[in-house]
Amino acid sequence: MAYSKNVREAYQGTLATIKDAGLFKQERFIHSVQDAEIEVEFPAGAAPKRVINMCANNYLGLSSHPDVIKAAHEGLDSRGYGLSSVRFICGTQDIHRELEEKVSEFLGTEDTILFPSCMDANAGVFEAILTAEDVMISDRLVHASIIDGMRLAPAIHDTFKHSNMLHLEQKLQLHSDKRIKVVITDGVFSMDGDTAKLDEMVALCEKYDAMLFVDESHSSGFIGKTGRGTHEYCGVLGKIDIITTTFGKALGGASGGCVSGRKELVEMCRQKARPYLFSNTIAPVVVSGVLSVLDTLSKSTERRDKLEANTAFWRKGLTEAGFVLKDGNTPIVPVMLFNAKLAQDFSRDLFDEGIYAIGFFFPVVPNGQARIRTQISAAHDIHHLEKALTAFRKVGEKHGILGKTKQEIIEKYGA
Ligand SMILES: *Cc1c(COP(=O)(O)O)cnc(C)c1O
Repeated sequence: MAYSKNVREAYQGTLATIKDAGLFKQERFIHSVQDAEIEVEFPAGAAPKRVINMCANNYLGLSSHPDVIKAAHEGLDSRGYGLSSVRFICGTQDIHRELEEKVSEFLGTEDTILFPSCMDANAGVFEAILTAEDVMISDRLVHASIIDGMRLAPAIHDTFKHSNMLHLEQKLQLHSDKRIKVVITDGVFSMDGDTAKLDEMVALCEKYDAMLFVDESHSSGFIGKTGRGTHEYCGVLGKIDIITTTFGKALGGASGGCVSGRKELVEMCRQKARPYLFSNTIAPVVVSGVLSVLDTLSKSTERRDKLEANTAFWRKGLTEAGFVLKDGNTPIVPVMLFNAKLAQDFSRDLFDEGIYAIGFFFPVVPNGQARIRTQISAAHDIHHLEKALTAFRKVGEKHGILGKTKQEIIEKYGA
């Protein structure tokens, strides 16, 4: 018997350790479409409860938008359910090529290649374009999928302190002898909601002859005046060598990702990126959905404008209520609680009040930096946000943290 009693018990022991450390991830089930209000079964087995959703990446509120659903139906009818092949064997459909062109146009890049997910784009790109003579210099807070992708590449890896341009410059000097240098960052950082200083990074990359890689998963569709992303926001459209992004967040919320940028780099991915070569590409129904999303966003900034107004309303309301927030102006708004147990209790109390927002604590964020991460959507209307503010005030009052400084909260609860 291969799965012996000993092996089973070893795994049971490991799982018990995870539980004892309070790190066990409880499944939650949504019994509705993704939207501003959803029906959540939590904990598993409980009756589904209708709550205001403040923890989805549904920034533009398109996950269940009628136009996107209609476009997806049309894609299903005209191009079928799937391709039953990877792309380099059977080829891909015309709509996949059309989506690649539309993405390049939207992001202001030379060319684009689709991947099954942004995780796959990040897993494939570095290995495809770098050799052992090259160096990757990444911000210390980049997304886990970038870290995994860098591990697969033969190049040397170094880091710079989060958004610290002096430190980045030192590292660029240190590695000036390398063949190719790539500076690697997220556009908007998902845990803090802060924005990379892409204008300064572009200048440094020009000075030291380095390429710039930006993961725009939490930016594409809504950051910048017309929602192109952090490069638009920072005034460096057309100057980013490699962009990766996801279609699983603002751009419809289903799945899929891409590498977009200099045409030779994209071609290298077509030749060599393993998730592109060995995994099925995005399903036709999703391609049709994303095409319609890009069409809508190119015609009007209405949804990103509403998201911006909602975000300003939410940040102002929480600040006036006396919460400690992380600075920033993106729709990722972390409410700082510092203590892990307080973050868990706070999240549960909010749920009782009909508000769905998740507590984050170590190891997802640094020790002593526990928080409730709220995420605003264009699907929210002001009445949703008003109700959420009332709940936050009530729960904040209960835990005695309104108007308290960081030091006072830490004194009371520990970090
Ligand atoms: C969500 C996310 C990804 C992964 O996107 P998928 O398409 O779901 O694989 C990659 N990078 C960043 C920065 C993300 O936030």
